[in-house]
Amino acid sequence: MLDADFFRRWMAATAASVHREADRLTALDSAIGDADHGSNLQRGFTAVRSALEKEAQDTPGAVLTLAGRQLISTVGGASGPLYGTLLRRTGKALGDAAEVSTEQLAEALRAGVDGVMALGGAAPGDKTMIDALAPAVDALADGFAAARAAAEEGAVATTPLQARKGRASYLGERSIGHQDPGATSSALLIAALEEAAE
Ligand code: ADP
Ligand code: MG
Ligand code: MG
Repeated sequence: MLDADFFRRWMAATAASVHREADRLTALDSAIGDADHGSNLQRGFTAVRSALEKEAQDTPGAVLTLAGRQLISTVGGASGPLYGTLLRRTGKALGDAAEVSTEQLAEALRAGVDGVMALGGAAPGDKTMIDALAPAVDALADGFAAARAAAEEGAVATTPLQARKGRASYLGERSIGHQDPGATSSALLIAALEEAAE
């Protein structure tokens, strides 16, 4: 079972890998966007980490809801409200249970991903974070390692796609041939689940 501490470790591990990979995320965003994805997420997850250190949230749902709120209020770019919605919706779907199973997390994350699709209007194949998140949620039933592999595969598979949502879509065919920054950061988020479980 996964308790509030697991979810705090998940957010801390995400913050650490966003920090490590910030330059790469920004380089990807400079090819098909405005070169701020790394700094956007660094600012957001730094705020998440300090909020979680200050406030002792004692359920998985409360940890994710607080994290989502921080992302929405500190990240100016498209990714802030989208990641914020993902975590808030997932947190809300977890309710007030003190511990949740991996199956319950998978179900809640599916609600979160649905929330992102409703907010941003993206579907799988539009070259966005959805292309990493949706396959990861499907694979989560087979464990965190499977989810990580699915997210990483999904992120790499955005390279030949033409963007249909977000800033990259303004480039039309010129968005082809570059990996989507948001799908890449989503793979970091999913990979951090495995680190939190160790
Ligand atoms: P901005 O584009 O405002 O500078 P970021 O650079 O932080 O924001 O985030 C860009 C990423 O956000 C994209 O790579 C993409 O994965 C994701 N994104 C943008 N628009 C959407 C959308 N409508 N639905 C889902 N994801 C989106
Ligand atoms: Mg950007
Ligand atoms: Mg921007």
